[in-house]
Amino acid sequence: MKLNCPHCSRTIPAENINIQTAIAKCGSCSAVFGFADKVPGTAPFGSSKRTVELPKGYSVDHDGTGLVITRRWWSWKYLALLGFCVFWNGFLVVWYFIAFTKGGPLIMKLFPLLHVAAGVALTYTGVAGLVNRTRITVNTAEVKVKHFPLPWLGNRLIPRQEIDQLFCEEKITSGKNRMHYSYNLSAVMRGGNRLKLVSGLDTPENALFLEQQIEGFLGITDRPVAGEMRPV
Ligand SMILES: [Zn+2]
Repeated sequence: MKLNCPHCSRTIPAENINIQTAIAKCGSCSAVFGFADKVPGTAPFGSSKRTVELPKGYSVDHDGTGLVITRRWWSWKYLALLGFCVFWNGFLVVWYFIAFTKGGPLIMKLFPLLHVAAGVALTYTGVAGLVNRTRITVNTAEVKVKHFPLPWLGNRLIPRQEIDQLFCEEKITSGKNRMHYSYNLSAVMRGGNRLKLVSGLDTPENALFLEQQIEGFLGITDRPVAGEMRPV
């Protein structure tokens, strides 16, 4: 089976094509896309485009003027992170208790400040992961992305007419023992710039679901972004 990336038009190598899920990944531009609609016979019941099912933790509503998708962040990984923070912060509390009650040298009080900053950031991330949601509001005038109730980077407000297309990207970061994969939903703007809309999604289905819902609502059809290759 020969498949080309809908975003940069390059050929997708066979190892990046998953027949079971009908999801493929471009090695050149990291785009992740569903291809069931491009291969006759793989779409269930002959539907023209395979629709990704509602992922866990997502809800879709239509209010008077538009589409509202809410994504709950909750995941076990945030509980694990908070568990780690208990040890991390506990260690620092003991450290400072000793430093101040036993009259430790100044270096003992200054040295762990970076660790304190990391502890605060990780704890905030863990708590946000348990309580936060992302709400994506789409109407004919604009696309709005808001993270709440705890403030978080990455809120967006983009006029509808500036968006040319949406696409999903895979991000690979190397961790200590293994690679970590996450998925973004990004927009290609009228001028050709790319803008991240939602990042840090756990599975390609999550990103593809958002792409399908929003593109479907806005009436955007997937087509190759010719000549817009990003550096590998
Ligand atoms: Zn590509």
